[in-house]
Amino acid sequence: MTLFRAVVVAALVCPGLAWGQASTIPFDYRERVTTELAPGLYTYGNFGRRSIFVVTSEGVIATDPVDPKFAADYRAAIRKVTDQPVKYLVYSHQHWDHARGGKIFKDEGATVISHENCLVHFANTPHPDIVRPDRTIRANEDLKLGGNTFKLMYFGRNHGDCMLVMQLEGADVLYVNDLVTPYSIGLGFMPDYDPKEWARTLREFEARPDWQRVVGGHGIPFGGRDAVTQRRKFLEQLMAYVEPLYAQGKTVDEMIAAADFPEFRDVRGYKEQVGRAIERIYHYYEMGW
Ligand SMILES: [Zn+2]
Repeated sequence: MTLFRAVVVAALVCPGLAWGQASTIPFDYRERVTTELAPGLYTYGNFGRRSIFVVTSEGVIATDPVDPKFAADYRAAIRKVTDQPVKYLVYSHQHWDHARGGKIFKDEGATVISHENCLVHFANTPHPDIVRPDRTIRANEDLKLGGNTFKLMYFGRNHGDCMLVMQLEGADVLYVNDLVTPYSIGLGFMPDYDPKEWARTLREFEARPDWQRVVGGHGIPFGGRDAVTQRRKFLEQLMAYVEPLYAQGKTVDEMIAAADFPEFRDVRGYKEQVGRAIERIYHYYEMGW
C-alpha cells in the first residue's frame, strides 16, 4: 500500500476521524500514477494536478490535459491501460493550469469539448498551449461511447462560470476538479471564485445520493462525501466571519490577524491559505466579485 493510498483509506474507513487527522498524514505526492476507481474509470496524476479518463470498447474519453509535459505522460499512461484511441478530450474549465496541452489528443483525432462559457475566456486570455474546443455544451449533456454514458453536468457559477462536473454513469464518483481538493484548504485568491454560488453547488452535490467519492483536480486520488461537506463548511464559515466584520469597517488585515477557524486549524494548507481566502471573501463583499 502506497503512502498516499493510506491517507484515502484512513479518511474513508474512519468516519469519526477528524479532518485534520486525515489531511496531515504524510504521503508521497511527487510520482504521477494511474488509479482505477471503478470498471473503466481511472484517475491519473499526483498531488500537483489530477485528471480522469474513461476506457470503453470504442475509445477513450480523457479530461484536462494540464500542460504539454503532463499530457504526454498522461497519454502514455492511458496507453498502458488500453490501445484504444482517445476520442474525446473534455475540459473541466478554462483555467490554464488544467486546460493546456491538448494538442497531443487533438492530433490523434479527439474531439475537444468544453462548456460554452469557456470560449470567451479562451478568446480574452489566449494561451498558445490551449487547443480551442471543437464542441461546446450549454446544459447537462450525456457523452455516449462504447455503450458507456459519461455525464457532463453544469451547476452554474461557482469556480468561474464554465465548470463541468463529470460522472461515468454507474460509477459512484464525481470529477469535480477545483471545486473540492479533498481534505485540504487549497482556496487561495482567485477573482473568479464565487463563494456563495460555490457553496450552493456543493450543497447540490450533497443532496445527490448517486455518488460516494469525489476526484479533485489537485491532491490525493479521491475523497469521500465528507470532503465535499468540509469544503462547503469552510466557505460558509469564511463568509459568516467576513461579512459582519466588513460591515463594521474592519480592514482585511485586521480580519486576517484575528481569524481562527478551530474546525479547520489542522487541515492541510490551512496556515498557508487562510489569509488569502479571507482576502478573497473580503473582496466579494467589498467589490462584488
Ligand atoms: Zn481552476
